[in-house]
Amino acid sequence: MSLSNNLDNIRKAVATTAEKCGRNPDDIQLVAVSKRFPAAKIHEAIAAGQRVFGENYLQEAATKITEIGDKAQFHFIGHLQSNKTKIAAQLFDVIETVDSIKLARRLNNHRKDIGCPLKILLQVNIGMDSAKSGLAPEDAEDVLKEIKELEYISPIGLMTMPPLTCSPEQARPHFKNLATLARDLEGKRLFAPDHKVELSMGMSQDFPVAIEEGATIIRVGTAIFGERS
Ligand SMILES: *Cc1c(COP(=O)(O)O)cnc(C)c1O
Repeated sequence: MSLSNNLDNIRKAVATTAEKCGRNPDDIQLVAVSKRFPAAKIHEAIAAGQRVFGENYLQEAATKITEIGDKAQFHFIGHLQSNKTKIAAQLFDVIETVDSIKLARRLNNHRKDIGCPLKILLQVNIGMDSAKSGLAPEDAEDVLKEIKELEYISPIGLMTMPPLTCSPEQARPHFKNLATLARDLEGKRLFAPDHKVELSMGMSQDFPVAIEEGATIIRVGTAIFGERS
């Protein structure tokens, strides 16, 4: 299957799943996870109409983003170390993996120099999987309250990765819990008021289930680009 066929199939699956559960497919953004694939593949996906990409590794991303320029948007979805916040704040349109107030403060300082707010998602370890990074769900409220004070950070939602061994149906309760948590925090007005609340959940294996549970961003790599080496 060609990359553009893969993208078509995913767009169709997104539309079918959304319609089945009474959602508007346009409310679901596909982030094409291009980690470990060269910039040429990103160009190919852009030619097939894809505009948003996800990257996990800063060094790798920096090279590709410099080459692609403003033909695409990039989300950072990897683990962010606090000594790498400067380059992350410069490179990305959205950082999906903020999991501490310390990281948020550092990103805020670097974004101040750029002069426009950075959109971020809080990464929540919803399954409390020891192998996964992310905030404990009960800590999200306090972190968001502190983020409210940061002028150059715009918190627009939550992101999660369920425990790796999960089948799609085993992942469903985790997705449900993330959606419930987001509604609760939205009720407390802890997200940026000028943006819809985003729920980033679902990957190649389980994005239809994530859409059924309210995902507004899905992060799909393998099903678009193939197996990573
Ligand atoms: C690699 C990765 C993905 C994509 O996973 P696939 O199974 O290849 O679709 C999504 N989200 C995160 C955080 C990732 O690291």
